[in-house]
Amino acid sequence: TIKLAARVQSVKPSATLAITARAAELRAAGRDVIGLGAGEPDFDTPDHIKAAAIRAIESGFTKYTAVDGTPELKRAIINKFKRENNLDYTPDQILVSCGGKQSFFNLAQALLDPGDEVIIPAPYWVSYPDMVLLAGGAPVFIQTTAAHSFKITPAQLRGAITGKTRLVVINSPSNPTGMAYTADELAALGEILRDFPKVVIATDDMYEHIRWSQAPFVNILNVCPDLTPRTLVLNGVSKAYAMTGWRIGYAGGPAEIIKAMKKVQSQSTSNPTSISQVAAQAALEGPQECIGVMVKAFMERHDLVVERLNQIPGIECLPTDGTFYVFPRVQGLIERLGLHNDLELSEYLLARANVAVVPGSAFGMGGHLRLSIATSRERLEQALERIAGAVGD
Ligand code: PLP
Repeated sequence: TIKLAARVQSVKPSATLAITARAAELRAAGRDVIGLGAGEPDFDTPDHIKAAAIRAIESGFTKYTAVDGTPELKRAIINKFKRENNLDYTPDQILVSCGGKQSFFNLAQALLDPGDEVIIPAPYWVSYPDMVLLAGGAPVFIQTTAAHSFKITPAQLRGAITGKTRLVVINSPSNPTGMAYTADELAALGEILRDFPKVVIATDDMYEHIRWSQAPFVNILNVCPDLTPRTLVLNGVSKAYAMTGWRIGYAGGPAEIIKAMKKVQSQSTSNPTSISQVAAQAALEGPQECIGVMVKAFMERHDLVVERLNQIPGIECLPTDGTFYVFPRVQGLIERLGLHNDLELSEYLLARANVAVVPGSAFGMGGHLRLSIATSRERLEQALERIAGAVGD
């Protein structure tokens, strides 16, 4: 056998991608599996975005670009930050990467030395802890509760910070919980962070646009602008514009950190795909109505799914603020069925209901499941019927 690096052995492959692959496998074998595992919109990329990419190919825009993104796309991102978030950046404070995933990967590589701690609220997006581990850092989790809408409190944050803390991650609205922090909650967290000037903050705003709560979107910089010199804003076009396959994410932040992240990227992937950059620019600068159409559909499905789930004894599902996930507590159901944990429940649902869901433990919180609502209403209704039927209800 070949000896692999310890680094690789310290991490696991993405659980959500694994579930999606398993569902695809069963489907290929002829089973009618409904996949509620995927973390991507079921909508097609809007036509005006595709058209821009086709023009880019035809005009020969198919070569290397600047590592950190084309000046035109960076300008579009700067304008987006100004227009939608009231944040001011210069081109040297922006890095375009191959998806939001690479933005965070670059950040971890640029920031962390062995043993450096990164505070991650749980449940979390599956990739944060493993990207921290790959950079030699140590993830430190703050466990949240459904009673507090899966959000960390200022006291919890203060309790988790040590002399080794290098980075705190805030993801709002959150994958997997769908919950968003309010301006007041962010201000209270910012109040704590003010006492620890060496700690860098990453706000992952990937789901900024997939929201139905009435309040306008806010991130921590909107309420604590004094934290700007040590905060990275991470965002991208994957979720808002149904562009997961194009692989474009971006970061805005202090020039020093952005420069270090760019160095990492320059020695790994170089620039993101030239064609995708043109598409992302079209997404940010073009008509924005496409977002509203998707969000309306997600909201209607959310209402349907939350209501139906709550009718099943043993399942409690909080309504969310946004994203295309719901994160019901299923501990009662696990016990009622005589199962041991959420992993067994998701296997049970795949075997008996032909529905693929992701166990909450993949996101650092057992006793829960994550269901993606990025599936047609008909399929969702069918999935919920099957689940209700399979658990004897
Ligand atoms: N951040 C969060 C919270 C996510 O859920 C995802 C995707 O699942 C990403 C970032 C990265 O998205 P992408 O790399 O597709 O741009």
